[in-house]
Amino acid sequence: MSRFWSQHVAGLAPYVPGEQPKINNLLKLNTNEHPYGPSPRALEAIRAGAEDALRLYPDPEATALRKAVAQFYGVEAGQVLPGNGSDEVLAHVFNALFRHPGKALLMPDITYSFYKTYCKLYDIPVKLVPLADDFSIRAQDYIGLAEKPAGIIFANPNAPTGLALELEEIELIAKANPDVAVVVDEAYVDFGAQTAITLMSRCPNIVVIHTLSKSRALAGMRVGYAVASQEIIEGLIRVKDSFNSYPLDRLAIAAAVASFEDHDYFVESTRKVVSAREDLTQQLETIGFEVLPSKSNFVFVRHPDHDATELAAGLRSHGILVRHFNAPRISQYLRITVGTREDCARLCNTLSELTEKTS
Ligand SMILES: *Cc1c(COP(=O)(O)O)cnc(C)c1O
Repeated sequence: MSRFWSQHVAGLAPYVPGEQPKINNLLKLNTNEHPYGPSPRALEAIRAGAEDALRLYPDPEATALRKAVAQFYGVEAGQVLPGNGSDEVLAHVFNALFRHPGKALLMPDITYSFYKTYCKLYDIPVKLVPLADDFSIRAQDYIGLAEKPAGIIFANPNAPTGLALELEEIELIAKANPDVAVVVDEAYVDFGAQTAITLMSRCPNIVVIHTLSKSRALAGMRVGYAVASQEIIEGLIRVKDSFNSYPLDRLAIAAAVASFEDHDYFVESTRKVVSAREDLTQQLETIGFEVLPSKSNFVFVRHPDHDATELAAGLRSHGILVRHFNAPRISQYLRITVGTREDCARLCNTLSELTEKTS
């Protein structure tokens, strides 16, 4: 603790992102980036945007992007709040919606680990709700609660399990907790789950968080957004404008809008990842892995006879990075991003070698 720090900084527990090292012939399957690039139209928009107008501040409201998202999902532009990656949008959500003194935020014991980091940052008490033994979220655990929570948050599909909840179950959770925000982080929804945006007309307490980092292959541009009722979005905007008026630069806005305009590319590149995921699942099962049924662009796997830490280290020595969480219940699992078919083949060949050699 430095004497220059504010008191609370010593107590923070910063999120540790997947590493981005410089290794030759590196195969990065550790941060769920898209194996195919962004839409060529997004790239063209970025090139076209590299001009004199960059001396001017961007639109603080990213109006063009709010409109594009609103049109895509059939909501009002006033129901959309873009931010500098969905992590920033989530930070505003925690700040604006979950700080209710004396009340705890409910979340699964296994989910996106950044949520706990924000709870520390904003001093929000947490109540962890254990996933079922098969790692599914049980809707009934969030219904008929004895104490009113500060809010509820989970990822759907969940991370790092890849399992998805049905919309009916999300509706049950939202309707059982009408006075608090139920935040559904849909970072991976495009790879096979259904968006809860369609529930908002019946459940005005639902907040959906999206990112362009995964299914739209724009992790390097940092764009995400929230969709919610206008009432909730107004609260988020108050927080956003108390923090940073211009979270999205001109190029990011242009790329994001172009990505939404190129629907065919989005559908086709997503389809390729989903199809590679299904093949990868089969191949990994052939090698002896247990693979959770994934609706995302990663698989969550364990091998009954091989330690996950050792497997991750073995892969790393072959230039392949995967994500291993040294956390309760999941320390024997690896989270592996679905790459191209060639990536998947290289991964599976290396894993067969590693599991043959040592068993
Ligand atoms: C990747 C991810 C995010 C963050 O996305 P960015 O928009 O890149 O900040 C948020 N939530 C989950 C569950 C993710 O996997």
